Amino acid sequence: MLLTLSTTHRPATDLGYLLVKHPERVHTFDLSTGTATVLYPQADEQRCTMALLLEVDPRRLVDGKAEGQLNQYVNDRPYAASSLLAAALNRVFRTAARGVSKDRPELAATAIPLEVRVPVLRAKGGLALAERLFTPLGWTLAGSALPLDEARPEWGDSRYLDLTLSGQVRLADALNHLYVLLPVLDDAKHYWVAPDEIEKLLRAGEGWLSAHPERPLIIRRYLAHSRALAERADEQLAPLAEAAADDSVAEHAAEKPKPLNLVRRAAVLAALAETGAARVLDLGCGGGALLGDLMKDQRYTEIVGADVSPRALELAERRLRLHRLPDRQRARISLVQSALTYVDERLRGYDAAVLMEVIEHLDLPRLPALCAAVFGDARPGAVIVTTPNVEYNVRYEHLPEGEHRHDDHRFEWTRAEFARWCDEVAAEYGYTVALRGVGDPDPEVGTPTQLALFTKATTATEAAA
Ligand code: SAH
Repeated sequence: MLLTLSTTHRPATDLGYLLVKHPERVHTFDLSTGTATVLYPQADEQRCTMALLLEVDPRRLVDGKAEGQLNQYVNDRPYAASSLLAAALNRVFRTAARGVSKDRPELAATAIPLEVRVPVLRAKGGLALAERLFTPLGWTLAGSALPLDEARPEWGDSRYLDLTLSGQVRLADALNHLYVLLPVLDDAKHYWVAPDEIEKLLRAGEGWLSAHPERPLIIRRYLAHSRALAERADEQLAPLAEAAADDSVAEHAAEKPKPLNLVRRAAVLAALAETGAARVLDLGCGGGALLGDLMKDQRYTEIVGADVSPRALELAERRLRLHRLPDRQRARISLVQSALTYVDERLRGYDAAVLMEVIEHLDLPRLPALCAAVFGDARPGAVIVTTPNVEYNVRYEHLPEGEHRHDDHRFEWTRAEFARWCDEVAAEYGYTVALRGVGDPDPEVGTPTQLALFTKATTATEAAA
């Protein structure tokens, strides 16, 4: 991976002072992900170019971080500029990114002509998104999508850009823009996420992020779309997260006293305990917060987390530290990749299943397929479903009227809509259903979350079996 940064400020070689890296030397850095090299292909009075080369060692991405899975080796991480490049920038130019310069303090505070080129940049959203991200910060963009295969133009473009940014920008700002926006464009962050990610974002975004027109997207993507992280942020860094992400986590921000996700999990666990289940499924387990609770409770002898997203499963695996569990504990839990709208034999015959904040992530027309697979085929003894109560949204000050609590929600239901759906599903698949609210009830709009507990009405054949 390669990034170059040039200036035509005179004398251009002052760039070496600002970056605190002498232009006549080659600097190498041993990073946790590989080796970074800083050198200057050009350093004269008129123009000075610094090149940062990052050689990623794919094995280091795995060692000690997660259990070895093939997809961790076979990916584009080593070749494409990405969050790893951003992390290397941050590490190598830490002083410069703070805007501090012993030798050229005034220059460090001055906008100078800069040009940044990243010849291979993974960009989901292409040049159009890159423009929305960088133009408001004073950059002019030039670039083009790289073809999938140069010999076969008919195959179209790849997800990679050859991107050049130019502008009159303070060097420290430039480094911070890149540090935040390269991973945002990449949108497939390396899979371990530092717990201090939110603080890093706040620090690097100081002075420009709060007024950026794409702030919600930047925050969401920077935090790697991670429900788990948003949750962890909520649990551990709530004040910071709320200040930074008031738009995208409106739901969390509104509930300082006791985060709704904790209340919800407690309600689900209580309902699950009532069913007397020992072998349980967490369907759409996401980053595994509920799985963590279940593991702590020895009444659950067999716990299966299922999700369609490999990323979610990776996060769950790391959160639960599966590779460090003693064998007996490890044997209680398994994670499976599964699309809940398809029949999956592995999910049959459990005592209970949880669908916590999952159904609203499906397009409504796909919901019957999920019901057929879960209630019709997997047929657990009980099913616990939670989903937002859309009526309650008016109580979230930061949530614009008519908007969903999360961008990824395809629908949010009123209490009447949820009740009707529950009745239909129960009737069609032979379950009884009890509805309850989760969270502090509001006299007009009810509770923020709604919960349904379905219990299988034992049929004659099933009772005999
Ligand atoms: N239950 C977790 C996560 C909720 S987010 C919690 O409450 O914290 C919704 C989760 O459902 C995501 O992890 C998403 O990947 C998963 N999901 C969405 N559609 C799915 C599908 N069709 N099959 C399996 N999982 C799905």
